[in-house]
Amino acid sequence: MHRLQVLSKQLTSGAFTERPSTISSSADYERLYKRSIEDPNGFWAEMAKDFVWSKTWDKDHFKSNFDVNNGPIFTHWFKGGKTNIAFNCLDRWVAAGRGSQPCFLWEGNEPHQQRTMTYSDVLAEVCRLSNWLLSQGVKMGDTVSLYLPMVCELPIAMLACARIGAVHSVIFAGFSADSLAQRIMDCKSRVVITSTGTMRGTKPVDLKGIVDKALDLCNKGGHKVDRALVVEDSSCPLQPGVGFQASRDVWWHQHIPQQAAQCEPTWVDSEQPLFLLYTSGSTGNPKGVVHTTGGYMVGAGVSTKYVFDMQPGDVYWSTADCGWITGHTYLTYGPLLNGAVCVLFGSTPTYPDQTRCWQVIEKYKVRQFYTAPTLLRSLLQHGDDWVTKYDRSSLRVLGSVGEPINEHAWHWFHEVVGEKRCPIVDTWWQTETGTHMITPLPGSWCKLKPGSASLPFFGVQPVLLSPEGKEVTGHGEGILAIKGAWPGMARTLHNDHGRYESTYFAPFSGYYFTGDGARRDEDGYIWITGRVDDVINVSGHRIGTAEVEGALAEHPLCAEAAVVGVDHPIKGQSIYAYVTLTDAQRQGKEMRQILVDHVRKTIGPFAVPDVIHWAPSLPKTRSGKIMRRVLRKVAMGQEKELGDVSTLADPSVVDLLISLRGE
Ligand code: ATP
Ligand code: MG
Repeated sequence: MHRLQVLSKQLTSGAFTERPSTISSSADYERLYKRSIEDPNGFWAEMAKDFVWSKTWDKDHFKSNFDVNNGPIFTHWFKGGKTNIAFNCLDRWVAAGRGSQPCFLWEGNEPHQQRTMTYSDVLAEVCRLSNWLLSQGVKMGDTVSLYLPMVCELPIAMLACARIGAVHSVIFAGFSADSLAQRIMDCKSRVVITSTGTMRGTKPVDLKGIVDKALDLCNKGGHKVDRALVVEDSSCPLQPGVGFQASRDVWWHQHIPQQAAQCEPTWVDSEQPLFLLYTSGSTGNPKGVVHTTGGYMVGAGVSTKYVFDMQPGDVYWSTADCGWITGHTYLTYGPLLNGAVCVLFGSTPTYPDQTRCWQVIEKYKVRQFYTAPTLLRSLLQHGDDWVTKYDRSSLRVLGSVGEPINEHAWHWFHEVVGEKRCPIVDTWWQTETGTHMITPLPGSWCKLKPGSASLPFFGVQPVLLSPEGKEVTGHGEGILAIKGAWPGMARTLHNDHGRYESTYFAPFSGYYFTGDGARRDEDGYIWITGRVDDVINVSGHRIGTAEVEGALAEHPLCAEAAVVGVDHPIKGQSIYAYVTLTDAQRQGKEMRQILVDHVRKTIGPFAVPDVIHWAPSLPKTRSGKIMRRVLRKVAMGQEKELGDVSTLADPSVVDLLISLRGE
């Protein structure tokens, strides 16, 4: 029998374990967690049986070294095994009779722009694109750069690369020509996939024009891209002056439909690279993080299932863009590995107005909704009526990611959006960790504490370290590090294993260094206090920036706050706060006093900011994170040393803040 038929037969004959998607008690969580730590090899092998492999992994499949003094840093999972993640995302569901179930529910810039693609549709389109990539000479291990807005073609292109063992590099379609060129040259892609353009709210974004510029820059830099495949966006056609280079550019709609709708997947070794992705650059130059196939697949599939209580057919929506890790693990791979229906949102959450999110939830009957605190803070300013007039009764699980969520936003999310019915999974993880690390699980047994990322996921051993590298046990505070490897972790940085070792493993040998600080409470719950660099030491008191920001944001007139530490001759450091008010008219001395009193009352006198700097808006990365290193420089008057700001969404904010210093 044909190998694909054999695999499909396994799927329909119930060879796979039907595991429930929730953990039902604290005792169950503890038992499974303990097993995952004591026997990672066995625990993950059992989890991996829920996926399709063309060859099973070796008995001792897991090995790793985290100690820089003991040879190179490496990790491998499922050694000897061969799989294909695109097969696991698509073919398996079609074989199991879910071919006519929606896979993507796409909503465009305007609420009336919609497209539904079933699992069969997506599989056929992925195969066509895979065949086209093969016809262009793309081979296993080659990198393809994707510079696309949120259209179905973006996850389709990711899956098409994965199907033939090529490595995708998604570059968020908001980056400039310079940043794009840098990222194409870094991985030497010969094929780029893009679109004519996109509408972001009322603003057209000329993607093809940016690609043209970037490819010129690549040529100048000595790297030639042979082919640009262009998706035609009818709402945003080619801009005047932007053309087609006949020798290089081809249209998706002319070339892809002609390809065969079947394409045999390439079964790859478990450690074959799947994608590379650059971090958001909040703390320095972006890093080209490399993820591999087998461990990432199992980690993504299993965490999505338990953290979001996901069953095949569930309608799931993450507001993240595929240009970020969340868009990889928890918009594309994780949900499809679980047979979900994914809402793909190609607009901005405040267009045409601030009710868009709740409209989308009502329209598609979204069950799991995953978003970022920055969006919640911007929406909650508009009051509750904008939310409550839409039906949110389909919601079951709410998720938060990207930054610590302050209590005020947490309560609003829980009480107003989720009608107190939906647990909030505050998921702490990173581009480098690939999958969720610390998060509550959505079972009634799991006590929720607003602002706490809570408990480690299976296989994850978080530890708190003192600056000298000693483990802090029990209740306490320290630098968050991870002991022991987990399946979804990044294996290296592209072309720079040395930087991988020195960034993540050299600071504390034997541990993965996260760069974040955290506190553990009496119940063993973890509270992320912010980046280690952002812990401020005022006269010997260690204060997390997140804590002060949370206190400021609790005040009804404060829309958003960002806090940094600046050098102080007596105190060591002092607290410097940037504050955006809901009403800019209120800026002034009186308002400063109100905020200072508020922080004094909520945290204590030692946490009171020395300076409050009015900020009409804050410098954020394109993924919505506040770039505190830039704020620190501005606060200290060192604006000549801002560093890499290419990942800022709007660099003009920085000049505005400099001009408002001392007001
Ligand atoms: P760079 O590494 O280039 O500075 P970055 O760290 O912003 O960029 P990401 O990998 O996207 O890039 O972000 C991971 C970071 O986001 C974490 O280290 C943490 O600081 C923050 N974070 C993510 N989720 C949470 C959460 N639930 N609670 C608190 N912080 C979070
Ligand atoms: Mg980081």
